[in-house]
Amino acid sequence: MSEPTALLIRVEGRVQGVGYRPFVYRLAKQHNLSGWVVNRNDAVVIKIEGDAGTLPLFVEDLRNQAPVVAEVKEITVDNDIPEYLQDFRILSSQDLSDETSEISPDIAVCPDCLDDMRRQSHRLDYPFINCTNCGPRFSIIHDFPYDRDKTTMSGFTMCEVCRSEYENMLDRRFHAQPIACNACGPKYTLHYDDRLEENFPAIISTVARYIREGSIVAVKGVGGFHLMCDALNPEAVSRLRNAKKREGKPFAVMFRDLLSVKKFTHVSEHEAILLTSWRRPIVLLNSIKEMTRGVCIGLNTIGAFLPYMPFHYRLFKELHTDALVLTSGNFAEEPIVIENETALIAFRDITGAILTYNRDIFNRNDDSVTRFMGGKERIIRRSRGYVPSPIDVSLNVDGILATGAELSNCFCIGKGNQAILSQHIGDLKNAETYVFYTEIIERFKKLYRITPSLLATDMHPDYLSTRYAQNLGIEVVTVQHHHAHIAACMAEYGLDEPVIGVCFDGTGYGTDGNTWGSEFMVATLDEFRRCMHFDYIALPGGDKVTSETWRTGISLLYKVYGKHFSDLDIPFIRDLDKKVVVSVTEALEKKINTPLSSGCGRLFDGIAAIAGICTHALFHAEAPMRLESVLAERITDRYDVEINTAICFDETIRQVVKDIKENISLPVISARFHNSIIWSIFESVSQIRQETGITKVVLAGGSFQNKYVTEKTMRLLADKGLDVYLGSQIPCNDGGIALGQLMVAARYRENKSR
Ligand code: ZN
Ligand code: ZN
Ligand code: FE
Repeated sequence: MSEPTALLIRVEGRVQGVGYRPFVYRLAKQHNLSGWVVNRNDAVVIKIEGDAGTLPLFVEDLRNQAPVVAEVKEITVDNDIPEYLQDFRILSSQDLSDETSEISPDIAVCPDCLDDMRRQSHRLDYPFINCTNCGPRFSIIHDFPYDRDKTTMSGFTMCEVCRSEYENMLDRRFHAQPIACNACGPKYTLHYDDRLEENFPAIISTVARYIREGSIVAVKGVGGFHLMCDALNPEAVSRLRNAKKREGKPFAVMFRDLLSVKKFTHVSEHEAILLTSWRRPIVLLNSIKEMTRGVCIGLNTIGAFLPYMPFHYRLFKELHTDALVLTSGNFAEEPIVIENETALIAFRDITGAILTYNRDIFNRNDDSVTRFMGGKERIIRRSRGYVPSPIDVSLNVDGILATGAELSNCFCIGKGNQAILSQHIGDLKNAETYVFYTEIIERFKKLYRITPSLLATDMHPDYLSTRYAQNLGIEVVTVQHHHAHIAACMAEYGLDEPVIGVCFDGTGYGTDGNTWGSEFMVATLDEFRRCMHFDYIALPGGDKVTSETWRTGISLLYKVYGKHFSDLDIPFIRDLDKKVVVSVTEALEKKINTPLSSGCGRLFDGIAAIAGICTHALFHAEAPMRLESVLAERITDRYDVEINTAICFDETIRQVVKDIKENISLPVISARFHNSIIWSIFESVSQIRQETGITKVVLAGGSFQNKYVTEKTMRLLADKGLDVYLGSQIPCNDGGIALGQLMVAARYRENKSR
């Protein structure tokens, strides 16, 4: 035999916790090569030696194959000195540097494991079954590198059988860190009627009985507790709605399988791929028929997802219903509950039973929400199954912490050329959510070995995320809200050149002291110029307008008709309390607590109120969602809009009122209004392009979750030869803003060091 030659190979990307080392081991054995593989926190490193002719074949296989969830970014191969090793071994992990490799998001249970639940004697019906291709990851990890003792599995000692599988390279669970079985792994406990049940089949049949009887059951999931009931039982659904208090949002629905989803919604091929992916997000789908009113509260979309824990699959086997409401186990804007003790107290009075298990959730992680729009997936809430996958960016963002917005907060930290966006945190004004926010920032700093040296925040002085940054005593770069939205999208697509940025949302602090939210900008990562915007609207009562949308309705009418608007003979005016009308009019006249806003969301609110479809909003963006929901797609005409530096909708409002008086139907009015918005975007962008010659258009801001506006606008602009970008893996709403802040701060630092 010839002298062995050797190679040293580095594999970077998401290669930890996804069965990569076992995969390498099997490959080495197949090729009859010796050496070792080790998880370092910056990469998987392979030493491989043997026959000079075989080594390239090994490398080729390494490049062409990989476990399902792995995402290999780079493989570097260097010649090395042979050590005359006898065997191929997996070495224990080394904590060598401050660099970290990727942490895998949580992965839905795989088909092989579901099979094993029926076949393997020690895992019959075992609900925490997992393998190298599936199971919890981010939700249980507390340090790096990913090994069992650095997860919340550390308290469970492997039994002999599990250990032998863990050590057997031919086994599917070779080095599966959360490996477990009926004998040695985590267990469920059902708490009901002052009793405890630990037998899993008995648990399933009891939970199924409660669901059939219309009860609510609290269930500990992967990233937190869910509240669950039969989605097709109206009483159960309304009971759950009452139990969740103040909340008016639509509920997410877990369907038995794809076939059941198709009974209630349209599912395109792309949407089916999203639904069945290992990330198992909630996918917003257009409904065919309503479930029960309490689930989708009259909207034409359903947030659908499929089972992703063994428990979900087993439960559906015992049930006849096609669908369960599975909503996050929290109240109002509080974070989702993750501790057993908290759940037992919080849910005691509203549920028939509470299901816990004895492994801790370390990282809280809500269900993710996504939608397929304009030819791509568009993430709306980025959490379980997506976080903490990093985003590769074109700038050095190392050591920067971007603190995000205030609502739908996510923060973002920079590590080299990677941006790591946190899971969905929520509304920071809620005290518990704020605590969660500060905790997770500390965790990310530790996990990714980062000591921030520069902070990036919103320009809004009162955002809690801004104040948090200002109190750290580190240099802070403040970034205008809509500039950050646009920069986030630029980061995702690697754009570093002037773009036409169109940013539509509810509110964001503007540099003129007013609230912005319908901005046409020429932007780079360095700076922006505000070219056009929707005309300002006075908001009588300030922040009150977000729930009391009738206030904005009055303001729009006042702007167009003056104080005689109250003589208009339309249902909206007739239904208003006259005294209230007088006092709001007076406030508008005297400009008392009537801040100005160019927020696109506010215009939608006002029109929805005038049209009578939503005068009071129970949840964020309800009015625009209702308006979109009733729209008649066959209608192609529009109202008049005056395109100026301040785009004026006065004529639109006049024509809406005229249509209402003439009893034109709501679907038609809604379509005409939507078409007016689309046209105004198209016209404004065309003008800016004419002036500047810029052909790249970035759409950003939460208003672009409106599928009708987004798809039509994208098509119109693309037909004109413009390149149009809208966030896909990064939310276009405030959940993505931290990435934009991070990029603007990185560019600021770069410029400063020049
Ligand atoms: Zn599996
Ligand atoms: Zn075991
Ligand atoms: Fe925003």
